[in-house]
Amino acid sequence: MSAPLLKVENLSVNYGHIQASRQVSIEVGEGEFVGIIGSNGAGKSSTLKAVAGVVRPAAGTITMAGKPVHGCGSHEMVRHGVALVPEGRFVFADQSVEDNLILGGYIRAERGGPAALQDDMERMYQLFPRLKERRTQLAGSLSGGEQQMLVIARGLMSRPRLLMIDEVSLGLAPKVLELLFPVLQDLNRQGLAILLVEQIATRALAVTSRAYVMENGSVTQSGPSQQLMRDPSVMEAYLGKQH
Ligand code: ATP
Repeated sequence: MSAPLLKVENLSVNYGHIQASRQVSIEVGEGEFVGIIGSNGAGKSSTLKAVAGVVRPAAGTITMAGKPVHGCGSHEMVRHGVALVPEGRFVFADQSVEDNLILGGYIRAERGGPAALQDDMERMYQLFPRLKERRTQLAGSLSGGEQQMLVIARGLMSRPRLLMIDEVSLGLAPKVLELLFPVLQDLNRQGLAILLVEQIATRALAVTSRAYVMENGSVTQSGPSQQLMRDPSVMEAYLGKQH
């Protein structure tokens, strides 16, 4: 059997004396849509940040398609095919939509030149026509939903094999989410592997095929999303967090 696309084993992340993630083991197969659910402070973001090379893990191993990548910095991880859409919809506020996309596509420009960059930008505009209409607008003046579209599109501009998204739904109206989630499902159907972190368990479980539950820094449960959705212990724990 071939190695999973992403394999994380016994990953621990500490901030000083705070243990944010403890011995976390997760896998994402090629083309899989996997979720990580759990309440505030469970260690979900820290796990994604460690995989993306944004924070250095205290322990554990990370492989991409069988290749060890732990210890790589964030730029190297982009080259290994990992893109992180971080929590908080960070955009380069005083730059246009188009310039934000160009910044996300620097590797693409390096490898394929300006024509490849332009092709990818057009692809993003097809995925998110709203961004095309606003291509010259400053990113800081976009609505929350449009900014979320932009950070996802910027992540996709590096042509990742694995897209990791942290709290896509935070603070967004249900109407916006009705636009965003189908785009993610389409991308996944086209073969992109996605690792989605969500506090709203029902939403994550509805779109993913498999999920992990994190509590206090550790993975406490995992399994097919449909099964977790029917599991009273999972749903009771997160009932208060549904929209
Ligand atoms: P949330 O959904 O609220 O973002 P989370 O499950 O993503 O939560 P993390 O953000 O990974 O959880 O946080 C795990 C723990 O690590 C928390 O106790 C948090 O306060 C702590 N933590 C996160 N980032 C830092 C940091 N930069 N410095 C110190 N502690 C941190």
